[in-house]
Amino acid sequence: MDRITLSVKKIIFQPLKEVGAIIFPECCLFCKSELTTNEKHVCGLCELELKRTYFEEFKESSALDKLFWGRVKLEKTFALYYFNSETAIREMLHQLKYQHKEKLGIDLGKKIGLTLKQSALFSDLDALIPVPIHHKKEFIRGYNQSELLARGINSELGVSIIKNKTSKRKHTSSQTKKSNQERWENVATVFQSQDLSEYKHVALVDDVITTGSTIESLANELLKSNEHLKISVISLAFAQS
Ligand SMILES: [Zn+2]
Repeated sequence: MDRITLSVKKIIFQPLKEVGAIIFPECCLFCKSELTTNEKHVCGLCELELKRTYFEEFKESSALDKLFWGRVKLEKTFALYYFNSETAIREMLHQLKYQHKEKLGIDLGKKIGLTLKQSALFSDLDALIPVPIHHKKEFIRGYNQSELLARGINSELGVSIIKNKTSKRKHTSSQTKKSNQERWENVATVFQSQDLSEYKHVALVDDVITTGSTIESLANELLKSNEHLKISVISLAFAQS
């Protein structure tokens, strides 16, 4: 697009955008109060109430590290927030998963990426692998929420995203009403992975980690294709039980 077309577009659309903002002001996705021009997705108050993990500052093992002990060897784990149903993280995850909030996903991914960049926690990372969802589900939903987060992380860290080397084999039923054992059996061996021998250190990207069974199952599958692969986990939220 040339500069003149761009300027004309700007002259026409910018005022429309501003009028739109007056008629349909953007609201906080959690408390619904009107957002100021400096606020994005959530208002300042709801942002303050989010429970940050600060795992990037931990010198000792975190509860998220410990979740995988004795199950699968992970290099590093990170989650930006603790899941808490009383805070905006609940609504963020819901909108990310079911309402195709592309910008929300990418912006949250950027926030994760920025935190990791400042802490230099994942400076030797080769690639990001969004936890795959079944292709039918992705087709119906139109996107994979973990991939949106990965795109945001990628824009801050510059680490590439591997999309087509891992997939989910069968459609698992909803996890919410199952016991831990049932959840594990439900996701065990459902992933498949192609050759990852060219990579040394990858990070699995997920929206929320609860029992850790999805990550355990996927990481074990990746290790089958490359037993020397270092695998880390980056998640938006961690639901500590
Ligand atoms: Zn709010």
